[in-house]
Formats: sequence, structure tokens, C-alpha cells
Amino acid sequence: MVDPLMRCQGEKVLLRLLESGYQAYFVGGCVRDELMGRPVHDMDIATSAKPEDVIALFERSVPTGIQHGTVTVLLENHAFEVTTFRKEADYEDHRRPTSVEFVEGIVEDLRRRDFTMNAIAGDVGGRLIDPFDGQADIKAKVIRCVGSAPDRFNEDALRMMRGIRFASVFAFRPVKSLWSALRSGRSKISFIAMERIRVELEKMVLGPNPVRGLALLQRSGLLDYVKAPVPKAASASLPDERLTLLKAIELVRPDTPEIKWSLLLKALEVPGEEAAGLMKMWTFSNAVGQGTADLIRFDEAWRKARMGPNQEDSKALRRKWIELQLSFGKGIAAGWIERQEVLQRAGIKPSPLRDHGTALSFELEEAEWHDEPVVHTLQELAVTGGDVMRYTDKKGGPWLGELMNAMLFKVAAGEWPNDKETLLEQAKVVVNEHGAS
Ligand code: ATP
Ligand code: MG
Repeated sequence: MVDPLMRCQGEKVLLRLLESGYQAYFVGGCVRDELMGRPVHDMDIATSAKPEDVIALFERSVPTGIQHGTVTVLLENHAFEVTTFRKEADYEDHRRPTSVEFVEGIVEDLRRRDFTMNAIAGDVGGRLIDPFDGQADIKAKVIRCVGSAPDRFNEDALRMMRGIRFASVFAFRPVKSLWSALRSGRSKISFIAMERIRVELEKMVLGPNPVRGLALLQRSGLLDYVKAPVPKAASASLPDERLTLLKAIELVRPDTPEIKWSLLLKALEVPGEEAAGLMKMWTFSNAVGQGTADLIRFDEAWRKARMGPNQEDSKALRRKWIELQLSFGKGIAAGWIERQEVLQRAGIKPSPLRDHGTALSFELEEAEWHDEPVVHTLQELAVTGGDVMRYTDKKGGPWLGELMNAMLFKVAAGEWPNDKETLLEQAKVVVNEHGAS
């Protein structure tokens, strides 16, 4: 499934190269995805032309990865990565090589690719060049390295993560030789930069079968290396409860990755206070890392309240609920509710209020605590600090901040109306009672 316009532009790039006497093919993910009937998001091209030849041939191009022989060619509104046929020289430290050697033919180029399904080329007429039988492996739904699996993983250890990612996203099975090479080579993943690992982890967790991928990661032992500094839950098999959490990931809307990550971390038993650190180590942006950690901390705090000594005091619980909403903010509270709905849909049953049972218990049905605070921030209050100072005739000081926050809470909880006159009166009462220093 290729967008016909993209294909048409891509063919123009191939034709231009061919007319100038170079060889040129579509390669990699786009050929594979089309064979699998999956949507093709971008089309990569391999050519015998050197990067400088490619730059000279096309009006608009950007040397995006010149050291690897890659030039991005822009045609109308499509971008094509055009890479010179290459053979990679001298792998060091189980990482992608620093230098590449350009070679003559497409078959040599395909030979350095990771898996047979990714090592198929297509020419402009749609004929396939498939020297490693990638089509047969796609049909059989298996992942197989091009050539010797131990050698390929030794060259670039990231391929182990990629193998599991593809197995997860496509629901394919790694062949035995790949799996045993992965089991014996797994420690080499520690040579790989976390950014590259995270890209694969992200595609896996945000893809359609995260549970499968995580189970494979766990069984292979790679998970221990991926979540290095987190001590708990290393290679124990997944108990049902954690599996349900992982299954729930599949039900989360794509545009709320923080909810997915919070479920994943929960399943890995990462506590809220460690979550931000782990997300940082996984090289996520601060926003996603913080959002994920906040969701877990919100959940922990609310659960603690529900299980705590006040669990039967509905007024106290409601105040706690409002307090959490104010301290975490509107977005996190809304995210948490969405997360609860997802868990419910995943079949985690709401338990009654007094059930001390499972750590996963929650009470979505008791929606009375879940009402929105009337206001979320001081800006939304009908009075400002200035109003209060004028009305009480007091100078500013720490008392003012405390008073404003107390009023925010009262209004948020619906105990006081958000009405200027009432709030000023109440402020005066408090100041007269406690004084303001
Ligand atoms: P996706 O759908 O995730 O983009 P893809 O197969 O296109 O999948 P890319 O990471 O975009 O994956 O890589 C493009 C192609 O480059 C792959 O299909 C594969 O042929 C080759 N490739 C990528 N990474 C490696 C690697 N680490 N070792 C060998 N070949 C690789
Ligand atoms: Mg790609």
C-alpha cells in the first residue's frame, strides 16, 4: 500500500538516476511493507551513483548522512533517502561502522542489511531482487538474519533489538538460529547508545503487539540490559496482573504515549520516584518522561489514600482527590482517568471501596470523587493577592500565599463559591482569626 503520488515521485528519482547511467532500486522497509500489504511511510532508494553525483542530478537535495553515503532528495512534497550501494568496513565495539566502503552492486548492498525481509530490492518496473529469499521468510512469518546470525549481531548489537521489534510489530517468529545467537550475544547490547535502543523500544511498545515484544525481550534476557539501573522484576516471568497491564497498552490512544509508558513501567514495577530517571536514561524528552512519572506518582498517591486510614471517610477522600488534582494539574488528572478507563476495558475489574485486595484495584464507578475541581489555578480565582491585601489592609508576606492556596483549595473542592465578595469576606475572617505576620 503505497501512496500513488509518492510512488510516482519515487519512480521519477529512479528514472533520473537510470537515465544518467546509474543503477537504482527501492530497498528495505518500503519493499517489505508493500509485500506485506502494510502502509508504506517512506521509500528508500539504493544507487550506484556517488553522493556527489546524486547532489548534482537533483535540484533539491540535502546531504543528510553523507558519511554513510546518504543524500535526501526532495521532489514536490516527498523526501527520498538515496544511499550509495555500500559495504560496511570494520565494525568496532559491536556498533555500526564509522566508515563505509562504496561497492558496485545491489547484491553486495543487500548483503549488509539486517534481516532477509529487509534485504529485498525492487526496480522501477516492479521486479524484485531477493538474493536471500526474504519473500519466503515473509510468507512463513519468520525473522532471519542475512548470513550468520552470530556474526551479524557481533557486528552491530542493535540488530538484536531490531529483531525483537520486528517480531513484535509484525507478529513474526524469530528463527532458531537468530534466537540462539541473540541469547548468547545479548550482553553486547550494552555497547549500543541508548537513543538507538529507545527508538526500537518505542516502535515496539507503541506498536500493535507490545506484549509479544516485551515477552520476547524478557525471555531473551535483553530486558535486563535495557532497563539497567532498575533493580526489581528482572527476569521473573510475567504474572497475570502485569500481563493485563501490558495488554492494556494496546488499548491506549496513539496520541497519549505517556499513558502507554506509565503502564509499561508499572508492569515492570518501576516506582514513580524512579520513573523519571529511567525515562531519562531511555533518552525520552523531559516532557514525556515527566508526564509518565507524574501519572505513576498520581496513581500511587491516590491508591495510598484509597487504602489508607481515611478510606471510609468519603469527605476526606474527596478532599484528597481535589488536592491531588491541584498539585499534579489538570492534564495529569485527566490522563489518569483515561488510564483507569483503559484498565477497565482491559478487564481489570473495579473492586469495592473497602477491598484491600489487589494492588491494581480502583474504583472508577465511584465517580463522585472524580468530579473536576471548580478551578485549577490561582489565576482562575475570582480574587487576586492584590485584592486581598487591599481588602484586609495588610502587607504582603508568606501568609498571603498560604491564604491564596487555601482559598484555591476551598473553591476547587466546591466548599466556597468562586465569588469575589465571599472570598474577600472569608479572607478577612481568616486574617482576623490568625492574624497576618
Ligand atoms: P521502519 O518501518 O521501522 O522504518 P525499516 O526496515 O525501514 O523499518 P529503518 O531503520 O528505516 O527500518 O532502516 C531501513 C533499512 O536499512 C532496513 O530495512 C534495513 O535494510 C537497513 N538497516 C537498518 N538498520 C540496520 C542495521 N542496524 N543493520 C543492518 N541493516 C540495517
Ligand atoms: Mg524506514
